[in-house]
Amino acid sequence: MLIRAGALIESTNRVHRPGHLRMEKGEIIAVGSNLEPLPGEEILSIPEITLAPGWINLHAHLELSSLSGVLRKGNTFSGWLEELLPLLPTLTPEVRRSSILTSTRHAAHSGTTSILSILTQRTALAGLTSTPTRVWWALEFSDLREKPNLTEIVDQATSWISRHPNADWHLALSPHAPYTASPSLYHELSTLASQNHLPFTTHLAESVDETEFFANQKSSLRHLLPADLDRPDLLPSQSPAEWCQKNIALPPRSILAHGNEFSLKDLPYLKERSATIVHCPTTHQWFERKPFPFNSYQTHQIPIALGTDSPASSPNLHFDLRLEARTFLQNHPSCNPKSVWEMLTTVPALALGQGKTLGVLNTDYCADWVGWRIPLGQDPFTSILQGTEPAEMTCISGKITPHEKI
Ligand SMILES: [Zn+2]
Repeated sequence: MLIRAGALIESTNRVHRPGHLRMEKGEIIAVGSNLEPLPGEEILSIPEITLAPGWINLHAHLELSSLSGVLRKGNTFSGWLEELLPLLPTLTPEVRRSSILTSTRHAAHSGTTSILSILTQRTALAGLTSTPTRVWWALEFSDLREKPNLTEIVDQATSWISRHPNADWHLALSPHAPYTASPSLYHELSTLASQNHLPFTTHLAESVDETEFFANQKSSLRHLLPADLDRPDLLPSQSPAEWCQKNIALPPRSILAHGNEFSLKDLPYLKERSATIVHCPTTHQWFERKPFPFNSYQTHQIPIALGTDSPASSPNLHFDLRLEARTFLQNHPSCNPKSVWEMLTTVPALALGQGKTLGVLNTDYCADWVGWRIPLGQDPFTSILQGTEPAEMTCISGKITPHEKI
């Protein structure tokens, strides 16, 4: 199939005008400005539309969108958890499943085609047959009370995904955080992720409460954990990153959600692990945190991607990465739209091990693109990121879905 659009963003280095894209069996065969149709080839002519790579949301909780507006803004992290924890059992599998469907639909409408979503309750997936975006289901584990049977759970999830070959689903592994998952759990998941080439993600250095807990175990976070917590690994005066290093907790290419509270001495270890930090700008603002240490990460060449987190701790009700990009640009005026574009495309693609398949529109990449109606004469990166209207259409693995306005 040949698509003839007004423009095509291949990557931040190249924009084609007009923008032509040929795709076959879910993959891009060619891009350029003067592709001629082959005999009998289907043609889609959309001269007013700009094609762009679909974005990748590297940290989300799709299950939790029903909690929008429920929890108090500006709370401490422990205070927020204290409000959240009693609500989680009230979210039935049906509520969570409906949240997943609504959230992926909204995300697709706003230009996202892939999401790494933390999955806490696997029963939420029962009966789900597809989602409007690709999803990497990051199975979340903790062992505060009992040890999960990892092999059984991972085998079940793998076979569930293989029963839905057309759903564009993938697997990832996620120990929740070092205060709820023991060193042995981290280590086992890290080994499983490396052996099976699965993305590994975890919440790390998210809040002051967490770093205080690691420094002296006197943080307000301690009261939320079991009184008889048996964790000899929690030595005083260490940082969450030192804990990871000491306990060999992180595999190479770990995806670390938040990373708000690392100290400068932690950064060489993160660099050595080839870690990617996922920053969630609207959640950061929601918790009224001190500025995100973007420049320190840049100095140490540690890549930053963007995520939405969930409406339980963010005003971003629709998992719209444009809102995250705009909030980030407001808070970091030295950055430009092209560098933010990379945080939504090539950086997260590499983190997921998809650097040769996602994030760029070029030969041999997946046909995952978004069609935007923007003024053709203007800078497309700025126009798309500043827009608030839904995308005109989304294509995932060569399947085109036009969007109705919602
Ligand atoms: Zn999270």
